[in-house]
Amino acid sequence: MIRSLARGFPMLLFVGLLAGCAAVSELNLVSTEQEVAMGTEFAAEVEREMKMLDDPAVEAYIDSLGQILAKNSDRTDIAYRFRVVDTDEVNAFALPGGFLYVNRGLITAAENESELAGVIAHEVGHVVGRHSAKMLTRHYGIAMIAQIALGEDPGLVKSLVANIAATGALMKYSRDAEREADRFGVDETHRSGIDPNGMATFFEKLQAMREREPSSIEKFFSTHPPTAERIAATRSYIASLPALAAPTRDSERFHRIQERIRARSGS
Ligand SMILES: [Zn+2]
Repeated sequence: MIRSLARGFPMLLFVGLLAGCAAVSELNLVSTEQEVAMGTEFAAEVEREMKMLDDPAVEAYIDSLGQILAKNSDRTDIAYRFRVVDTDEVNAFALPGGFLYVNRGLITAAENESELAGVIAHEVGHVVGRHSAKMLTRHYGIAMIAQIALGEDPGLVKSLVANIAATGALMKYSRDAEREADRFGVDETHRSGIDPNGMATFFEKLQAMREREPSSIEKFFSTHPPTAERIAATRSYIASLPALAAPTRDSERFHRIQERIRARSGS
């Protein structure tokens, strides 16, 4: 397993291993207030630089699904906000402080609501674990984080947001952070009464999609590689939870929203 992974993603694996333990276990020195203030700066720049899908019905749907997951997460001390980016690239990303973005291409790639919920829940999991706030602090230091939060370093905000456009995330998460976000995500869907298997089946689908149309999904793979190991760990964690009596897998609203997006984007 390690050998085949190492062959596929040599740098990624080693960077992940080296960065992993420090990133997740490190003391988080950023206050919630600072994290939200920093996220507000990033969000304003994201929405200046990236095209948002200007459709209240789609945004209301994504926000309502996201709010259910956030409410059932292990972090309810912040207000979450979910918006849709108008691009067919299959990706989603989270900024510090609860600002989350789902690409239009991810919504249309999901087969049912539980798959979409699984990926959104994973992103909420990054916010729950304060992953980007911790990584930014580790890379730039607490003094610079305070400056960003105060809006005093627009240059750094700009260059980090340019990173999202180029790589699909603010910063690359460690493998430990990915694993933690998967677990938090499974907890969120499970507590919301949504089938947690959607996350695993969607990851499998994305692997297959990578063979067919690699360009649409490249960034997702570079920032959240859904490896066989991750899928197996997700499945065994789900198996350790009490089975849900009647989990939600799908909704009519989800398919209406997909149709709406396809009609407006001609995809
Ligand atoms: Zn991730």
